[in-house]
Amino acid sequence: MRRSFVAGNWKMNGTSDSVQTLLSGIKSGAGAIEGVDIAVCPAFVHIGLAAQALAGSNVAWGGQNLCDEAGPGAFTGEVSVGMLLDLGCRYVIVGHSERRTLYGESDELVAAKFVLAEQTGLTPILCVGELLEEREAGVTEEVIDRQLNAVFAQEGGLAALNNAVIAYEPVWAIGTGLTATPEQAQAVHAFIRERLADRNETMAAGIRILYGGSVKSSNAGEIFAQPDIDGGLIGGASLQADEFLKICEAGAV
Ligand code: PEP
Repeated sequence: MRRSFVAGNWKMNGTSDSVQTLLSGIKSGAGAIEGVDIAVCPAFVHIGLAAQALAGSNVAWGGQNLCDEAGPGAFTGEVSVGMLLDLGCRYVIVGHSERRTLYGESDELVAAKFVLAEQTGLTPILCVGELLEEREAGVTEEVIDRQLNAVFAQEGGLAALNNAVIAYEPVWAIGTGLTATPEQAQAVHAFIRERLADRNETMAAGIRILYGGSVKSSNAGEIFAQPDIDGGLIGGASLQADEFLKICEAGAV
């Protein structure tokens, strides 16, 4: 059975003070929650605070992005996989829709980051998902296929999926307050798992596929109850400790 996983994506939010308050709130409440893996992904500049606050707790931490070059070297403004590992990160989000749409990250670049992260010792959280116009045009599955195929085509991509997490995040549901219905989300999760099973049934049965897109404590339970949904990637609601902890509890089995 797959163990649930709830991860918070803090995006470009927080100050040193507010992040420390959030970290200590999450740490103190998470200790009592069992049956779910929990992680937070602060902005790069706050990862050191997470490492200090969360060491020895049941909350892991990770990055929101990484450079596709292993480095070290002349890549101004970038953060390497080694730097994330040095700060004790276990996870890294790759291919978040904001990276794809606002910063032009291609499927191929995302796939390269995904493989580099996994091969270097991080567990990548690969985000996939369709835009509103793509859903309305009925091409959701084609979009997901394209995003997954880029990973399959990358050398080492299929193997990397053995130590990875996928997050299905319909772009129209991210930060909008719109949530896919549990049935809509389940249908896409099942599709993703089928596509993975075409390549490797054991990997497909074991990989965790998270749902992301306006998850809150009020809807987490019914979403996480779907058979192919193994937890959530949480944006806005992960910025309040109580709310995030309630979502983690909804994931606990
Ligand atoms: C996200 O950014 O990954 C996300 C799911 O955001 P939100 O929960 O705010 O929709």
